[in-house]
Amino acid sequence: MADAAHPSPYRALVPSLWVCADCGYRAEQRRGCPTCHDEVLLDGMDPDIRLWLLDEDARRRDARQTKLLWVSVVSVVGFAIGAVLVEPVVGVTLFFSIPGVVGLIAMTLFIWSLLGRVFPYRERFPYLRG
Ligand SMILES: [Zn+2]
Repeated sequence: MADAAHPSPYRALVPSLWVCADCGYRAEQRRGCPTCHDEVLLDGMDPDIRLWLLDEDARRRDARQTKLLWVSVVSVVGFAIGAVLVEPVVGVTLFFSIPGVVGLIAMTLFIWSLLGRVFPYRERFPYLRG
């Protein structure tokens, strides 16, 4: 009979992984997350929970990318409106010519890419892959 003073030698053969769904904290024993105080750790060895956690991570990554895209769209539209106010001819050219619109789109994509590199998404469950 195994107890705390004399742990079973077979205990190490049974892997155990408990994961916080909010911050990605992991532990070998079930307990509360030290960072997210009310969060109960989930069984990371359950394939359904692992899949759900990876899907949740992908959903958060997509939501963050969408947020960064909106930030870049708003900043480029703000720039274009500023250009209209400062120099109406340049502003009209930006909005009503194909090179102007292509330039605004390219600027939006560049800023979006830059924001993604400056503020990269931190995966919460990289240890669940593989
Ligand atoms: Zn947590």
